[in-house]
Amino acid sequence: MDFLPFARPDITEAEIEAVATAMRSGWLTTGQNAAAFEKEFMAFVGVDAHAVAVNSATAGLHLAFEALGVGPGTEVLVPTWTFTSTAEAVHYLGGDPVLVDVDEHTLCIDLEDAARKVTPRTVAIAPVHYAGLGVPDGALSDFARTHNLAVIEDAAHAFPTLNEGTLIGAHGHEATVYSFYATKTMTTGEGGMIVTPDAELAARMRTMRLHGINKDVFDRYSSTKPSWQYDVVAAGYKYNLTDTAAAMGRVQLERTPEMVARRNAIAERYDAAFADLPVTLPAHAPAGSSHAWHLYNLRLTSDAPVGRDRFIELMAEAGVGTSVHFIPLHLLTFWRDTYKLSESDFPVASAEFLRTCSLPIFSAMTDEEIGRVVSAVRAILG
Ligand SMILES: *Cc1c(COP(=O)(O)O)cnc(C)c1O
Repeated sequence: MDFLPFARPDITEAEIEAVATAMRSGWLTTGQNAAAFEKEFMAFVGVDAHAVAVNSATAGLHLAFEALGVGPGTEVLVPTWTFTSTAEAVHYLGGDPVLVDVDEHTLCIDLEDAARKVTPRTVAIAPVHYAGLGVPDGALSDFARTHNLAVIEDAAHAFPTLNEGTLIGAHGHEATVYSFYATKTMTTGEGGMIVTPDAELAARMRTMRLHGINKDVFDRYSSTKPSWQYDVVAAGYKYNLTDTAAAMGRVQLERTPEMVARRNAIAERYDAAFADLPVTLPAHAPAGSSHAWHLYNLRLTSDAPVGRDRFIELMAEAGVGTSVHFIPLHLLTFWRDTYKLSESDFPVASAEFLRTCSLPIFSAMTDEEIGRVVSAVRAILG
C-alpha cells in the first residue's frame, strides 16, 4: 500500500487547464489573472475592501506590518503556538514579537496572557486562527480597542472561516493575511492574499509589493499606453503573485465550498471514530461560527498506551504521514535565545506541545484513505 502523505494538494483538470491557458497567453508575471483573482477573492469574502495578492503569507505579513509602521522600538503580540512566519515578519522590520501563551481548549492566543504582556511599545496583535477556528471576534476587537492596538490577522489556516456570523477578513481589522501554500485549504503552490478595509494601507502595500515603485503593477504592465516612466519612492520588496499562480488560485477559489465541505466531513468522521480513545478531540466552532479544518489535531491523554513521539513512529509504520502543529516558537533556538524565553513562561503551550499530533485532513482524501487513518489510530490507541 502506498504511503499516505500528511497532505496532498487538491488539483483537478480545471486548475491544470487554467494554468496552461495562462502559460499560452504569453503573460506569466502579475497581470490580468492576478487582478481578477483579487476581485474574485474580495467577492468571496463579501466585503467592500481591498485585496492585495502576494507570493506568500509571510510576504503579506511583512507588508502589513511595514504599512502599519512596525519597526525598531515597537512590539507586536504573537501567539507562541504558530509557524515562525508570524514572528519573523515583525523581526524583519526591527520590531519585537512578544510571544503569548495559548488557550488550552482552542490553542489560539490567550487574551488574558496577552493583556499581561502589553507595554507602552505594543502597537499590534497578530492572532492566529489556529487550525481554521477563529479567535472569537468580539473578545479580540474589545481587546484591541482597550489597548489601542492594530489587528493583523494571520489567517493562514482560516479560509474560509465564519467568526461570530461574519467571514474572517470582513470584520474591518487593519489587515487579514491568507496563505496559499501547497498544504493550505486552497493553494497556488506558493502565494497569499492580504485583505484590508483601509485604502491608504492597501496603496502602501501595493507599492512595497513591487520594489517601492509608485505605480501599481497592473498599471505598469497591462496598460496599452506607453508606460516606461516610473519612480521608486521606497526600498520595497519583490512580493507580487505570478499570473500562472493566480490562474490556479481562481479555480481553487471557485472550488472552495466543495473543498471545505469535504474537510468538514472528514473531521466529523474522525470525531466519531476517536470519541472513545484516550485523546482530546480538537475544539469545534461555537454556534454562529465555522471551522475551515485546515488541521485536525489529536492530543494524546496521559492514559494513552504510547506517547506522542512513539505514536508518530507507529503511524508512519502503518503507512500514514502525520505532523506536529506547532513546535511552539519559544522552544525554537532563535526565538528562545534572542528573547531568553523558557518553557515555564508558556505553561499551556509547553504542555500541549508534548501531546499534540496533526492527522491527514485534505479535501482530495478518498474514503479508503480516511478509513486507513482511522484504522491506524485505533490500532495504536484502541
Ligand atoms: C503556513 C503558515 C504561514 C506562512 O504561509 P506562507 O504562505 O508559506 O508564507 C504563516 N502563518 C501560519 C500560521 C501558517 O500556518
